[in-house]
Parts: sequence; C-alpha cells; structure tokens
Amino acid sequence: MVFVFFGPPGSGKGTQAQYLVKKYGFRHISTGQLLRQEIQNKTALGLDIKSHIEAGELVSDDVMLELVKNVFKDKNSEHVIFDGFPRTVHQAIAFEDILSVNNLRVDLVINFEVSFDHLLERVKGRLTCKTCGHVYHEINNPPIKTGVCDFCHGVEFEKRNDDEDSALKRRFELYKTETQTVKDFYSDRGIVVSIDASLAVETVKKNVEKALADLGIVS
Ligand code: ADP
Ligand code: AMP
Repeated sequence: MVFVFFGPPGSGKGTQAQYLVKKYGFRHISTGQLLRQEIQNKTALGLDIKSHIEAGELVSDDVMLELVKNVFKDKNSEHVIFDGFPRTVHQAIAFEDILSVNNLRVDLVINFEVSFDHLLERVKGRLTCKTCGHVYHEINNPPIKTGVCDFCHGVEFEKRNDDEDSALKRRFELYKTETQTVKDFYSDRGIVVSIDASLAVETVKKNVEKALADLGIVS
C-alpha cells in the first residue's frame, strides 16, 4: 500500500515514518532526504538544486516526478510512505499516473495537524545524524545516549541549512500557498485521516498506528 504523510515542515512526518520503518519494515521515501543526498553527493542535480533548497523554494515538478519514478525502479515493498511528496496539485495528479503504471494508488493520507507556533520550536531544535540521517530534537526527542545516534552509533549531528529563519519562513509560506491544496485533492477521494500532531511523539505514534490499524494494515 502507498501512504502519504502530509503536513507542514516540522510536523513530525519523518519522525513517525522512521518509527514505522523500524517497527514494521515499511519503506520510507522522504523526497527532501533524496534531494539532500543528491546535494551531498555533488551530483549534477544536486549542484543544480542546492541554492533553491537552501532558499526554501520548491524544486520543480519535473525534477520531483523523475525522482519519484525512479523510486519504483529500485525495489518493491509491501508498504511505502511518501513524506514530503506530493507538494503541488500537479505532482499529486502526475503521481496517480506513476502509481497506476505500477498497479498502485494512494491508499491513505495521514494529515499531520499542528499549529505554526509548535512548528517553529520543533524545527529550530531539529538535529540530524550526519551518518544515517536519523532525525532528533535537542529537547523533545534526543538520542537515548547523549551525542550518540540510536541507530548507527554515529556521533556527529547537524542542523539543516534550510531550517534557518529566512528559508524556513519561505517554506511555511509555500506550504500555505501551494501545498495545502493537495490535501483537498485527496479529501475529495475520502482517503484523508487527520491526526493531532501537536501531541508528544509517543502519543502521535499511537494515533498513527491506530489510523493504520483501522484499515487493517497493522494489528
Ligand atoms: P517533518 O518530517 O514533518 O519535517 P520531523 O519529523 O523532522 O518533521 O520533526 C521535526 C522536529 O520535531 C524534529 O526535531 C523532531 O524530533 C521533532 N518532533 C517530531 N515529532 C514531535 C512531537 N510529536 N513532539 C515534539 N517534537 C517532535
Ligand atoms: P523536506 O525534507 O520535506 O522538509 O524538504 C526539504 C526541501 O526539499 C523543501 O523545502 C524543497 O525545497 C525540497 N522538496 C522536497 N520535496 C519536494 C517536493 N515534493 N516538491 C518540491 N520540492 C521538494
């Protein structure tokens, strides 16, 4: 099945997806993470999009659709979470075609609802393991052992360039003006479940699992 985790930057999509990967072996496709890898590997695409991402702008639909097509070439998994995609209605429409070629469709959209006040504090404290990309929060969600990644035992953490003030402001703006309409696209199909993502990480985990259990996806 295909799930879309939908919500503003910092709403906890990646955190919940990481949890489902670990617990149930879901595949997690974060388009932001795919793009950051291109930048890190200094590929032609990475060099092309770097300044765009750092400014908090969206990457073009054409580039994003190519990236997502490639996801299905790699390998198949029973359950795949898309996190950060689609972000425009055009992406959502084209995604339907990509999925149907692979005999798939979006089965469930989990809408992470959080007030913008919470988001700022979350994004400002976000830390990413430099080795494996696992996401933490300095205060709300630190590694179990201070300074050591729970997953890969890496000891270097970094802040994202685009979590700084001006890029962040632009990302919130784009979420409101461009991305939010994607939810209506899926609401019309009756596949959106909204959860209160302002609650603590553990509570949100339970509520996400409940949404999946209601569909018989996990028990
Ligand atoms: P997104 O993928 O939606 O951009 P993240 O999962 O990266 O969001 O979470 C953003 C920041 O907020 C991270 O530092 C993360 O540890 C923290 N966080 C995630 N969920 C919660 C929560 N329910 N309560 C408090 N902090 C959270
Ligand atoms: P994220 O990791 O989801 O916060 O995404 C980080 C950045 O990657 C965004 O601010 C955009 O610049 C870019 N990005 C990620 N996903 C998309 C997408 N679906 N469409 C356009 N740009 C994207």
